[in-house]
Amino acid sequence: MNPWNQPEEREYNQRIFREELDGFLPERILDAHIHVGPPEGFPADRPYSCGGVPLLSYTYEELDRDLAQSYPGRRCEGLCFGFPDADYPNPVLNGYVGERADFRRFFPLRLLDPRRDRPDAVRDDLDRCGFLGFKPYPDFARPGDLPNVEIPEMLPDWAMAVAEERGLIVMLHIPRPGRLEDPLNGRQLRELCRRWPRARIILAHVGRAYYLRGVEGRLEGLSDLPNLYFDTAMVQNWEVLAHLFRAVPIRKILFGSDIPIALAQGKAVEINHQYTYVTPRPWSLALCDDRKKLQFTSFLNEQLRAIRQAAGAVGLSPGEVAAIFYDNARSLIEETRVRNAPASAHSGAPCPWV
Ligand SMILES: [Zn+2]
Repeated sequence: MNPWNQPEEREYNQRIFREELDGFLPERILDAHIHVGPPEGFPADRPYSCGGVPLLSYTYEELDRDLAQSYPGRRCEGLCFGFPDADYPNPVLNGYVGERADFRRFFPLRLLDPRRDRPDAVRDDLDRCGFLGFKPYPDFARPGDLPNVEIPEMLPDWAMAVAEERGLIVMLHIPRPGRLEDPLNGRQLRELCRRWPRARIILAHVGRAYYLRGVEGRLEGLSDLPNLYFDTAMVQNWEVLAHLFRAVPIRKILFGSDIPIALAQGKAVEINHQYTYVTPRPWSLALCDDRKKLQFTSFLNEQLRAIRQAAGAVGLSPGEVAAIFYDNARSLIEETRVRNAPASAHSGAPCPWV
């Protein structure tokens, strides 16, 4: 059992939810950024560290249980993909994510490895499983030289031609240390959106902008791209979110969490125009509170708190909040799956976890 399922963490998180979030969140939530994978998808000696919690499995059943626990009384859906790690078996992860998606609550994206994937195999997977799009990742594109990865290397022309032809979703984790501040990224992102207008590009983590300077003056120049969307996964800085809510049309903003990472305890913090995480457990991306000075809640609760604070500061209406948490992503998924879901996905056969 993961630590967030133990009574102590679970009950504390639910208390925060009741006290601070229950009155704010809409009835339906569609989380656009979720990782799932079966035990066979994790090398036994390489657990995936979620905020310092080592995972060797995260199935749809575990997700279903965690969603019910994290959002009491809400109906939850998700856009799901495997764990992007160049040492993990992508075909196993993709097979599981695609074949076990129910297309009612859970919808699959396919991890895309531009060096190992072949166009025919990708097309076959799309036809067979009905993936709604791709999840590329910088680590797949140029292993050993991560700081210099470019967007076209993550998304080669052959893959984008498939995305264009089928109107697929592309969940883009922007590369390079400068993120949206990197002029090459900015130029290549605009080119990507313009050259492939039928593909729907989601900029994950608001372009990995966990600190205000990462977005100030950067989003305005992207707000005119009709096929560019933004997910909020792991952003816990309310000023970043308020800037996002003001700078781009609300219909382009999709709530995402990064579950299961988001279920671990900790918080992303901005310090001197940079960011880090602070966690109670040692994690390679974080400063660890090894003196036990703080009581933490989940990254997820911190994300929801930040969205609530930003929505209040900007004056979003309940309808706009519901659009961010559900309607925008659901519309995007509906438009995409009309073209792509295989017949079997509409058979109505019951899925074991629903
Ligand atoms: Zn993620």
